Amino acid sequence: MPATTPHLMQTYARQAVSFVRGQGARLWDAQGVEYLDAMAGVAVTNLGHGHPDIAAAIADQAGMLLHTSNLFHIAGQEALGARLCALSGMERAFFCNSGAEANESALKLARLHAQRRQVAEPLVLVMDNSFHGRTLATLAATGNPAVQRGFAPLVPGFVRLPYDDLEALQAAAREPSRIVAVLVETVQGEGGVRVASAAYLRALRRLCDAHQWLLMVDEVQTGMGRTGAWFGYQHAGIAPDVITLAKGLGNGFPIGACLARGAAAQLFSPGHHGSTFGGSPLACRVASTVVDIMQRDDIPARAAVLGLRLLAGLRQALARHADVVAIRGLGLMVGIELQRDCRELVARALQEQRLLITVTRERTIRLLPPLVCNAAQIDDIVLRVAGLLTGPVRP
Ligand SMILES: *Cc1c(COP(=O)(O)O)cnc(C)c1O
Repeated sequence: MPATTPHLMQTYARQAVSFVRGQGARLWDAQGVEYLDAMAGVAVTNLGHGHPDIAAAIADQAGMLLHTSNLFHIAGQEALGARLCALSGMERAFFCNSGAEANESALKLARLHAQRRQVAEPLVLVMDNSFHGRTLATLAATGNPAVQRGFAPLVPGFVRLPYDDLEALQAAAREPSRIVAVLVETVQGEGGVRVASAAYLRALRRLCDAHQWLLMVDEVQTGMGRTGAWFGYQHAGIAPDVITLAKGLGNGFPIGACLARGAAAQLFSPGHHGSTFGGSPLACRVASTVVDIMQRDDIPARAAVLGLRLLAGLRQALARHADVVAIRGLGLMVGIELQRDCRELVARALQEQRLLITVTRERTIRLLPPLVCNAAQIDDIVLRVAGLLTGPVRP
């Protein structure tokens, strides 16, 4: 495996490991060394690697029809839209190819909503520490200066508030004239695994109702079972106006979606928005298969149970660890915040523990295991994380 990548743009600081095969929560490199996956390609391969039903669906659809165009009806796209709407309480879907594109779609809906309300210079409320993507509009919405640095001028039209802070929200609502929407994550993934309270999300819903703001929930990471429900907002019992999905929706096949209900579902008309690849017969077949498997195997409920096991295991194993500031999470989205910059742990976890983890916001170990893990694998993750933090080196 080449240690350098002279012909790739330097967008990632890559680990010196490369995988050639995977099965469930296990991965193998070219030398046959086995690794345990506690990141699922950053919340993407929720149903694990090498899922036979997904592989079969891809092969079957590839032999039949990959792509036509959105200039034609695509039966699988309407079917997937109907299923996602039934699961989420939304009414219409727009399909694209990534999380950033899904959020771009939501932000374009907010602009059309503003036009309807005759708000000339509309503002969208966004949060500190949020992450919404790397395109120009979504990086402007993102609450991380490191993502924005170098890309001025930023797309205007965003107002930033502290996350999960009801008072800040109420203060913003006192000057609501130009605000037309809120874009929020139910658990901030890139922001250090921070869980918004149900009370906060319900208050957001009430304020959006009172002021005709669209409540737009970025479920790109939290959606598709990750938090122990199909969608993160379901824990709070609220109905957003717009939600965005990607990551787990295709289990590694690129597909994103923006779903809306009520007036927001009627805003786009032909000419407003589009995507050449979005919602192709292949992409929709894969995502429909993901939904099939999730329903058949009750995956969100499984994630809830395993998530509690992971949290409890970590809390017990790391109880007396001096570096650990907090252990928090929802479902199989778990963060271990340390007192120190712990980015070096990603490489050490690979080398010493044969474990794939991510670190967000420099100090938080983020665990995103596949939702199809078994209990023994969850316990193994706990063991390896504890080993990583407390020293003993595994062979
Ligand atoms: C990953 C992520 C995105 C961006 O998704 P891409 O597919 O990388 O464009 C947006 N929002 C959230 C919450 C994410 O976690």
